Amino acid sequence: MNITKAELVISAVKPEQYPDSGRPEVALAGRSNVGKSSFINKMINRKNLARTSSKPGKTQTLNFYLINDSFYFVDVPGYGFARVSKQERQKWGKMMETYFTTRETLKAALLLVDLRHPPTKDDVMMYEFFKHYEIPVIVIATKADKVPRGKQQKHAKIARETLRLAAGDSLILFSSETGQGKEEAWAALLPFLTE
Ligand code: GDP
Repeated sequence: MNITKAELVISAVKPEQYPDSGRPEVALAGRSNVGKSSFINKMINRKNLARTSSKPGKTQTLNFYLINDSFYFVDVPGYGFARVSKQERQKWGKMMETYFTTRETLKAALLLVDLRHPPTKDDVMMYEFFKHYEIPVIVIATKADKVPRGKQQKHAKIARETLRLAAGDSLILFSSETGQGKEEAWAALLPFLTE
């Protein structure tokens, strides 16, 4: 994929703020710190368009990145910060549910999990949520460079089994350090990005 243009169009907190261009979009979900920002930056060859510092308590927004004037990556707030209050978690849940269940231009979700560890309960819940709402999902196992090559397939198998990945859903080993999996991720995404 040749990236000629990438810009943060809006950080939205409510549906009225979502872009209404009708262009296809792919959303990224995952635990805080799993590597969502790094994934976006690597995929579009930008060092720091997506912010790579997630602090608990920072404003929870849906960040819409317009790529090549033709589609969006939507970075949704990460989950799994223990220190976040119950009230904030509920707010997060509501925003996620509204977005994922009503957004007509949403074509697929990327679920990012950390290849080093088995997917968490939250990861499994997120995967089941996407399956329930019949949102196509591609799993990206991040930080692959931290797992020795010889052990990567074993970790991938554990991730597939823990998520109970449906036949036909792909899991791509990815590293924003080395670029491993980048072309594979674009190839998996492309079918969803053509209007
Ligand atoms: P986010 O909270 O999901 O957006 O996560 P970030 O992209 O901010 O990444 C969290 C931390 O993990 C940062 O210190 C990144 O440098 C690091 N990180 C993210 N992806 C990778 C990766 O593929 N390999 C390695 N070694 N570190 C990564």
